[in-house]
Formats: sequence, C-alpha cells, structure tokens
Amino acid sequence: MSGKNDRTYSGKCVDCGSPLELYEIDFKKGRRIMQCTRCGLYHFYKKDFFGKWKLVKAGRVSDLWRKSK
Ligand SMILES: [Zn+2]
Repeated sequence: MSGKNDRTYSGKCVDCGSPLELYEIDFKKGRRIMQCTRCGLYHFYKKDFFGKWKLVKAGRVSDLWRKSK
C-alpha cells in the first residue's frame, strides 16, 4: 500500500463537469459511488485488475448498483 492518497479522487461529473465527492465505498467488492457536488449525479466506479478505479456508469439513483445482477 503506497500512501493514503485515496481521498484525492480524480473525477468529474459526466454531466456538468463539477468535482465529485465520495458517497459510498465498498473495499471488499472493490467498488465505490461518487456523487457530483453540483447536480447530485451518482457515478459508479469499479476497481480494475490493476487497482485503478474505473467509471462504470452514472445515474440519478444510488441503488442502480444493487439492482444490477
Ligand atoms: Zn454534475
């Protein structure tokens, strides 16, 4: 583990381009949800093979994630 810089999430809203803030994170499943600080759009990220966060989808409701089977 190299540093605790996981808080400096680089992410911009796909809709309005505003910075995102952390909404929910699940380290076990390697995924997290970021929310736009301006329009409230949720961004769903998944950790890829190399441990990098990848945007999977964006949506208006926070439980889009749980519905996907
Ligand atoms: Zn936005």
